[in-house]
Amino acid sequence: MKILALMLVQIVLVVLAADFAGGFVHWVEDAYVREDTPLIGNLVGRPNTIHHHLPRYMTRFNWWHTSRDLVILSAVLVAGAWCLGCLTWQVWLFAVLAANANEFHKWEHRTRRENGKLISFLQDIRLLQTARHHARHHTDPKESHYCTTTNVLNPVLDGVRFWAALEWLLAMTTGLKRREDTSVRGHGPGPAWLDEFRRQPA
Ligand SMILES: [Zn+2]
Ligand SMILES: [Zn+2]
Repeated sequence: MKILALMLVQIVLVVLAADFAGGFVHWVEDAYVREDTPLIGNLVGRPNTIHHHLPRYMTRFNWWHTSRDLVILSAVLVAGAWCLGCLTWQVWLFAVLAANANEFHKWEHRTRRENGKLISFLQDIRLLQTARHHARHHTDPKESHYCTTTNVLNPVLDGVRFWAALEWLLAMTTGLKRREDTSVRGHGPGPAWLDEFRRQPA
């Protein structure tokens, strides 16, 4: 019984750690990465800008298109853990959840009909983040609710102004400033190349 309880606690902690890692990557993208960012601008900045302007655009993509970047990062993590001899079930669980963070995110932008009964049920019982919860991330000024796997971490992190504090610390120590989000009302209209995506049916 004690072992089961300990295992359950570990599962919860791993889920929250994976949620936090996904939220951290999302925060970096939103705060500092745009399409003109060297090296990762095209791969990361562009899709992120598209998502903030056209949130439903991602729902047309299959699992691999949605998850490939995170699958590669998770595979590197698993390979690294294996090399170090610490590839435990906790590492595997973390890697699988982290690899699917953007897929969970996509489900928050799909309708219940698109998600089907199982995913809708998992959202209803709050094992996965709900669409209503994630909608707050897409509410101006779009500077909160970066975690997209559960409903648990965002109220805590936003409540203590964790991300704002990190941005302040980075600005103070390195001079790095948060970049403007052109999808926020009054900051648009956004880059001209977005027009080709706006013209496509949702
Ligand atoms: Zn975002
Ligand atoms: Zn979203």
